[in-house]
Amino acid sequence: MHVATTLAEMRQRRAAMKGSVGLVPTMGYLHEGHLSLARRARTDTDYVVASIFVNPTQFGPKEDYQRYPRDPERDLRLLEAEGTDVVFMPSAEEMYPAGFDTWVEVGGSLTERLEAAARPGHFRGVTTIVAKLFEIVRPQRAYFGQKDAQQLAVVRKMAADLNMGIEVVGLPTVREPDGLAMSSRNAYLSHSERQAGTVLWRSLCRARELFEGGERSAEAIRRAMHAVLAQEPLAQVEYVSVADTATLQELEAIAGPALVSLAVRMGRTRLIDNVTLG
Ligand code: AMP
Repeated sequence: MHVATTLAEMRQRRAAMKGSVGLVPTMGYLHEGHLSLARRARTDTDYVVASIFVNPTQFGPKEDYQRYPRDPERDLRLLEAEGTDVVFMPSAEEMYPAGFDTWVEVGGSLTERLEAAARPGHFRGVTTIVAKLFEIVRPQRAYFGQKDAQQLAVVRKMAADLNMGIEVVGLPTVREPDGLAMSSRNAYLSHSERQAGTVLWRSLCRARELFEGGERSAEAIRRAMHAVLAQEPLAQVEYVSVADTATLQELEAIAGPALVSLAVRMGRTRLIDNVTLG
């Protein structure tokens, strides 16, 4: 496995690849969710490139950029064990040199609500860094987790709208045995917050149970999820949403596939999760 810490090294490694390339973009502090993406890339493509870059432009001024967890040595061991060919770990200075002034922004309904409303500028930062990584690595396929469902939809839209010719592959959320979605940010949770964190999954299971029992009123499902969340005193709910998977607009009645998603604060830590119904 090669580690490329500069653009020049990454471009050189890429130029030597004769065959299909799969890209797995990450912010590091890897867990099984990230590794599931690398594993799938390994079976799909001739070369696997993973990136580790805590992207400053997708964090708000009051968010956790400085304290975001980092453990590059462990990350490299884990990626090597998955058969990764190249890990791209650029510096923030090289990705955003002084005078950097070009942004890639997806408009329309996908970036109006949910995470976009809660985190102004977040998706502009995401699509800008992903567009740069796509340009540098020029993969045939790129792998993203359904855990960040809105991000997946926004990146797909960017790739389609800009004719990037890259297949954006979305993979299922990997969970802890008790249902908590794996996330680098789970490391922030105290013991009691970690236990309380299962309430997101319990509320999503309640939504699925109602849907499978024939409930099609989105409001009834949102109310039932709020009722589950209200039982957990540590949980401060930011939003609960039942939205059209294609537009991410809030639904009244569920007729086609629906994205059920939520954001909850546990102390200082913000957790998100989702399932798709139908
Ligand atoms: P991050 O390092 O948080 O930016 O995540 C990098 C990629 O891993 C993104 O495409 C995420 O959606 C994906 N990912 C994060 N957590 C999970 C998970 N629990 N299961 C599957 N994919 C995940």
